[in-house]
Amino acid sequence: MIKKVIPELHGWALDESGNPTPVGMALKKSKGYRCPVCRGDMRVRTKNSKHYFYHESVDDCTPEQVADALGGKWLLTLLNEMLIRQETCPVTWEIEDHRFTADVLLGVTTIIENSRTHYGTPDIALLNEEGKLRAVLFWRTLEDELIRKFGYHGIPSLVVQSETFYSGLINNHFVFKTLDVLGGWWLDRFSDALVLEPDTVRDLFRQMVSEPPFHFCGSLEPLDETSCVLSYKAQHVWMPYPVFELVIGGTRNTIGDITIIKQTWHQKDHSEIDIFHVTRRKRDGSKECAVGVRRSFPQVFQAQRSTISMQAVKAHKSAQEIACELAMQ
Ligand SMILES: [Zn+2]
Repeated sequence: MIKKVIPELHGWALDESGNPTPVGMALKKSKGYRCPVCRGDMRVRTKNSKHYFYHESVDDCTPEQVADALGGKWLLTLLNEMLIRQETCPVTWEIEDHRFTADVLLGVTTIIENSRTHYGTPDIALLNEEGKLRAVLFWRTLEDELIRKFGYHGIPSLVVQSETFYSGLINNHFVFKTLDVLGGWWLDRFSDALVLEPDTVRDLFRQMVSEPPFHFCGSLEPLDETSCVLSYKAQHVWMPYPVFELVIGGTRNTIGDITIIKQTWHQKDHSEIDIFHVTRRKRDGSKECAVGVRRSFPQVFQAQRSTISMQAVKAHKSAQEIACELAMQ
């Protein structure tokens, strides 16, 4: 029996000059494409009105191998060309109901592939004149923990949608439209009234419990055009739950219509700071949020504490009442 071999459909190839080329930018019917892995000849084919590269002869290479061999070099070349031409690279993304736009190449002078940084190795690092990271780009490494680590330290991660990227059905402009951005709200300077940098936000949370009574709670209220703002003295921080999860961190639990994210920070003086983000979803689909913070010292660590109880859910307490109760336990 003759086994029918179905040729692999590839998104990437090298062109005649040896440049990585996604099929979205390949010239139809043009020859001279090669596979970077086996060096075999490749051609463009159209199937179901989509374009693909295929090997002209025997094909042992997987589409992932071929894309992995070329994608990084293509992105690096593209970004470096934009830098030389002094083009902007505007990226838009959303967090909660807020839409952000920032030029990720602003102030960038160096772009490096697979460069080891203090927080790990991104696929591509974008650095400013002082050698500081402006942003990191991931197209192959999709380790959530690594990506979050950069966001925690105030470096936005640009994540290429890998399925689209590997399909090769992209071009210079389209690729930046498919980016997911993690963090980065501090790049847009969307409100001068808000404290935005993650380090400064964490400092503010420590300040909230730096003196007696060592606890603080407040509801998240609209400020100007921005919702979910926590105010402490004259300072305001934007704290919708995706921001809280990235900047403060913690574990999330849901009981009924209440979701609580809790984080604990161990301090050098052996005290502990517990931070709670409480969201209560209301019947009309809206939600109310509050934050509670408490600092406890070694002598009271043994005191028994309950987390949110079913009574609180049944009693229909507001998010702020729950946050205050948690902070004062
Ligand atoms: Zn090949």
